[in-house]
Amino acid sequence: MSAADTSLFARLPAVDRLLAMPALAAAAEAHGRILATEAARAVLDAARADLAAGGAAPEAEALADQAARRTEAWARPSLARVFNLTGTVLHTNLGRAPLAEEAIEAMVEAARGAVNLEYDVADGRRGDRDDHLEDWLLRLTGAEAATVVNNNAAAVLLVLNSLANRRPVAVSRGELVEIGGAFRIPDVMRRAGCRLVEVGTTNRTHARDFEIAAEDGLGAIMKVHASNYAVQGFTANVAERRLAEIARAHDILFIVDLGAGSLVDLTRYGLPAEPTVRQTITQGADVVTFSGDKLLGGPQAGIIVGRRDLIQRIKRNPMKRALRLDKVTIAALAATLPLHADPDRLAARLPTLRLLTRPAGEIRALAERLAPEVQARLGEAIAVDIVDCQGQIGSGSLPVEVLESAALRLTPRGGKRGRGARLKALAAAFRALPVPVVGRIAEDAFLLDLRCLEDEATFLAQLGELRP
Ligand SMILES: *Cc1c(COP(=O)(O)O)cnc(C)c1O
Repeated sequence: MSAADTSLFARLPAVDRLLAMPALAAAAEAHGRILATEAARAVLDAARADLAAGGAAPEAEALADQAARRTEAWARPSLARVFNLTGTVLHTNLGRAPLAEEAIEAMVEAARGAVNLEYDVADGRRGDRDDHLEDWLLRLTGAEAATVVNNNAAAVLLVLNSLANRRPVAVSRGELVEIGGAFRIPDVMRRAGCRLVEVGTTNRTHARDFEIAAEDGLGAIMKVHASNYAVQGFTANVAERRLAEIARAHDILFIVDLGAGSLVDLTRYGLPAEPTVRQTITQGADVVTFSGDKLLGGPQAGIIVGRRDLIQRIKRNPMKRALRLDKVTIAALAATLPLHADPDRLAARLPTLRLLTRPAGEIRALAERLAPEVQARLGEAIAVDIVDCQGQIGSGSLPVEVLESAALRLTPRGGKRGRGARLKALAAAFRALPVPVVGRIAEDAFLLDLRCLEDEATFLAQLGELRP
């Protein structure tokens, strides 16, 4: 490096000088001197690299402003609200179920201080954290006993490890599925210590297949509810009731991973039929697992219900301690479960069901209010119109698109050339809003499915900041 270069570097302000400038001083006041100092150093490092590459020396004010903005960005929590306009109501990447007000209030209350998490207030003795949930789970499912863990993947792992460790477990080949990311039934079974016995074929599995496997010796039969996939055409699978009979005849367990696990009959709301947990228990399942944040509309949790002796074995597994729920989640779940005891009012009280049953006409009316506003903001270059579309429940409910909805369709005008890049830029502009708007690119357009847009005011208020 030449002497001239070195003197150029010397002209960059010192960290302390930047910290004394009004913009960065204010950021340090708001978020602490340590963070602001780190930001000043980072900005100076970047400026030095820029100089070395032949760039100009920036003004000290500009550097202080940059460092202040960086401090603000670091101080902002990374986890933040977004508008889910993807058309998938229970979107795993967007946090699944929105919670009921009752659940939110209960979480805040539990978070604030001490609670009787594992403490029996009546007789001043140690209690069990499952006690806050078990009665409600039994009432809503008809099971003998219940316990709760961190999510349904954990529930499946814990159930298999507690009840079928080192034992063969039969699963239909049609159900050896991957359920998002790293949850693959064969892998989970291996991790749980079970030996997977594949039964039948991908499209057809018969009772006889399970009987043969059972005669060869099994610890359990497991049924995995078809959640994010559908096998169509020439198919056959064995009903729960029949699997339960086979299991009973061979003195082995029948375990069902229900996935979404509805507690109420969804057809009464005009939604597709999903087996309820109660039906599955009635059909003879010894243990059933399901998620708390799918159709139940609660917080992330894995719920295990079934025979009392089996639940006791599960609760004695040290793994249960590692997978247990915290007080805040228990509070939310305990506030959500009672809502299901009143199906008539459930759609009004449970946001998940409210969104799933939102009438297409109401969504279209919303689209008609928003379309002119969005068009005005986007100008000539992008056409905005309203289209009927189909959304989905998501997260392990019928994978087929079933929710009739309406979307704003944003189509860049002009030729097809570069259309893909322009659509991506448009989607990025919506994601760059203060409350990021997440839509989807489909059929050569950017679609905003409005089913889950309830806060119309915030959506409209931030449109002015859109930089398409
Ligand atoms: C969703 C799902 C899981 C995983 O549940 P999480 O609560 O996301 O851990 C497991 N099995 C089935 C059948 C599912 O649908």
